[in-house]
Amino acid sequence: MIRINPHYKKLQASYLFSDIAARISDFSEKNPDTEIIRLGIGDATRALPVACIAAMHEAVDEMGQDASFRGYGPEQGYAFLREKIAEHDFAARGAQISADEIFVSDGAKCDTGNFQEILATETRVAVPDPVYPVYVDTNVMAGRTGVFKDGRFENIVYMPCTRENDYLPDLPDADVDLIYLCFPNNPTGTAATKQTLSKWVDFARQNKALILYDAAYEAFIRDETLPRSIYEVPGAREVAVEFRSFSKTAGFTGTRCAYTVVPKECRAFDKNGDPEMLHPLWNRRHSTKFNGVAYPVQRAAEAVYSEQGQKQVKAIIDDYMKNADRICREMDALGYSYAGGKHSPYIWVDAQTDSWNFFNALLEKTGVVCTPGAGFGPCGSRYIRLSAFNSYDNVDRAMQRIRKALG
Ligand code: PLP
Repeated sequence: MIRINPHYKKLQASYLFSDIAARISDFSEKNPDTEIIRLGIGDATRALPVACIAAMHEAVDEMGQDASFRGYGPEQGYAFLREKIAEHDFAARGAQISADEIFVSDGAKCDTGNFQEILATETRVAVPDPVYPVYVDTNVMAGRTGVFKDGRFENIVYMPCTRENDYLPDLPDADVDLIYLCFPNNPTGTAATKQTLSKWVDFARQNKALILYDAAYEAFIRDETLPRSIYEVPGAREVAVEFRSFSKTAGFTGTRCAYTVVPKECRAFDKNGDPEMLHPLWNRRHSTKFNGVAYPVQRAAEAVYSEQGQKQVKAIIDDYMKNADRICREMDALGYSYAGGKHSPYIWVDAQTDSWNFFNALLEKTGVVCTPGAGFGPCGSRYIRLSAFNSYDNVDRAMQRIRKALG
C-alpha cells in the first residue's frame, strides 16, 4: 500500500496571500471607484536591467546556431558566472570564497528549503519569529517537528524578534544544531552588524552547530560598514552556508537565478561526532537532483557584474530605497514605531493592534494594501509589513492617503 509522507499533514495551510486577495476583491466590489495601491508586494516591480536583457538576447541567439548551441551545462553553474560572483560578491569585500564553493541554482527559496536534506532527521532547528515560512515548513516536511500548537510547531526553537531586542534574535538557551538567520531580514527589514554575526559564528563554533544564512536582500544594504556576507566575519567558513539570489538584486524573480555558498571547510558531524564536510554532500545532492540554470539566464546574471550592469542595478535599488525612505518619513510623521527601511525594501510597522484589524482598517479607509504580520509568526501578530517594491508615484500617493486617514 502506497502511503503518503505523514509529516505533510502537520503543515498549516498558508491563507495569508489568498486571504489578502479575497479581502481586496471584496473591497473592490464594494468600492469600484477606489484605486487599490499594493504595498504588500514581496516581488520586484521594475524591469530587468538593460545589460541583462542584452546578454540574454545574445545567449538566445547563440542557442539558435549549431556551432554555438549549448546543451546540458555544469550542474553547479558555468565558470564564467561562478568566477564573477567570487570576485565581485566576496573577494572585493575581503571574504575568501572560491568559484568552486559556489553552486548556481534557480532560487534561494529552493536552496534554503532543500539544504536541510543533507542533515540528520534528529537535527534541532532554531528559527526567528517572525520568519520566512520556507525555513519552517521544509523542516516540518522532513519530520523534524511535532504538531502545530498555539501558532508554533513543537520541537522547533523559535527566537522572538521584538521591539525589546531591536528585532534581532537572541542566542538560544536551548540546545540547537541548525540556525536559520536572514539579514537584511524578511519581514522585519533589520540588518546585522559584523559584531552580531560574530556572536552567531562563535555560538555555532562552540556548539558544533551550523548557520544557514539567507542574504537574499544584501543588495539593499546602504552602509558600507555593514557585512553583506557572513564570510566577512572570521571563522564563518567552518560553520555557515550562505544563500544569495538575483531575484531582488536585479529583478530576477520571474527569470530565476540564485546561488548557494558552501565553503570547503564547512562541516557537520557523523554519529560518532567526527566532522564531515558539507561541500561534497551538497555537490552530490545538487548534481543528482538539479540540472543547472538555463544558459541565457546565467549570461543575464553574469551581466549584473558588468560595469553597465552594476550601474543599472544600483539605480534600480536606489529607486526602491527612495520609496522606502518615503514610507519611513511618513511613519515618523505619524508617530509609528517601525524597523527596517534603511537597508531593506521592507518596513515592519508596530500597528499596536491586531495585524488583520489594521490591514482591514487601512484598506477600508485608504485603499492601501499591506501584509499582516501574523502571516510570519506569532511575534508578528500586531505588526504589518509595508513594501517598497512599487513606483514612487504609487508609494507617494499611498502615504498621502494614509496621512489623511490616520494623521
Ligand atoms: N529568501 C527570502 C528571505 C525571501 O524573502 C525570498 C523571497 O521573497 C527568497 C529567499 C526567495 O528567493 P528566490 O526568488 O531566489 O527563490
